[in-house]
Amino acid sequence: MFLRIHNLTVAYNGVPALNDVTLDVPEGDFLCILGPNGSGKTTLLRTIAKVLTPSAGAVYLSDQDLRRVSVRDLARQMSVVPQNDAIDFDFTVEDIVLMGRMPHLARFASLGERDWQAVNQAMQATNVEPLRHRLITHISGGERKRVLIARALAQEPKILLLDEPTSNLDISYQYEIMALIHRLNATRRLTVLCVLHQINLASAVAKTILLLNQQGQIHALGTPEAVITQENIEAVYRTPVLVTPHPLTGKPQVQSAYRFN
Ligand code: ADP
Ligand code: MG
Repeated sequence: MFLRIHNLTVAYNGVPALNDVTLDVPEGDFLCILGPNGSGKTTLLRTIAKVLTPSAGAVYLSDQDLRRVSVRDLARQMSVVPQNDAIDFDFTVEDIVLMGRMPHLARFASLGERDWQAVNQAMQATNVEPLRHRLITHISGGERKRVLIARALAQEPKILLLDEPTSNLDISYQYEIMALIHRLNATRRLTVLCVLHQINLASAVAKTILLLNQQGQIHALGTPEAVITQENIEAVYRTPVLVTPHPLTGKPQVQSAYRFN
C-alpha cells in the first residue's frame, strides 16, 4: 500500500485528538478529509507529515515506517500546504517557490538547472509566473495560496497534503484552486490528501472521503456517494440537513434543513 495509517492515536497533553485511526490510501487517490471543527483533521495531516509524533500506531509510506525516514527524505516525497502560512517577511514569490527545492539540494550547494526547471514548471502549473518578482506580502489571498501550492509542487512530491486550501477564498478561487489540484492528480497521478471545510466541494472533487467525528475517530470512509448521506452528516455535524444529488453531476450535495421560525 502507498500510504498506510495504522491504529493511529495522537494526543495533546494526554488528551487524544485522533483516536485509533486506520486507513489505506492507494497511489493516485484524491482523499478529502471532512469533519467538524476540532475533529483532528489538521492533527492527522501534521502526523502524516511527521510534524507531530503519534502516541500509538504508525504511518507507512511505500511500506516504510515514517519513524525510520528522515524529515529531509520525507520532504523529497511529500509536500505540505499548511492552512496558516505566517510568511510576513518580504520574500518575493520566486523566493518562496525556490524554497521548495531545499530538500533536494546538497548542503551548501547552489541551485542547478534541474532546480530551476522544477521551479519554472511549478510556477507555470499554478499560473504565478506573472507574480514572480512581487512580494508575497503584496499579493491577494488567492494568489498567495497558489504560490504556496507552487512551492509544494517545486518540491516534486509523490504525495501532496493540503489543509483547507480554499478557506477564505471566494467561490471562483475555490474552484480554480481545486481544479488545479484535480488536474495534478489526474495527469501526474499525484496522490492528494486534502482537508476541506466545504462538503459539497469535497463531494464534487474527491475519489474518497474520510469523515472524522468530534472524538477524532473515523465515522465513515468511502466514495462521496457512500459517505455523504443525511445520516452520516447529521450524526457528525449535529445539525439537520437535506442531501440530494447535484442536478448536473449527480454527486451528493448537502443543504441545511434548519428552519428559522
Ligand atoms: P481540526 O483541524 O479538525 O479542526 P485539530 O486537529 O486542529 O482539528 O484539533 C483537534 C483537537 O486537538 C481539538 O480539540 C484541538 O483543540 C486540539 N488541539 C489541536 N492542536 C493542539 C495543540 N497544539 N495543543 C493542544 N490541543 C490541541
Ligand atoms: Mg484544522
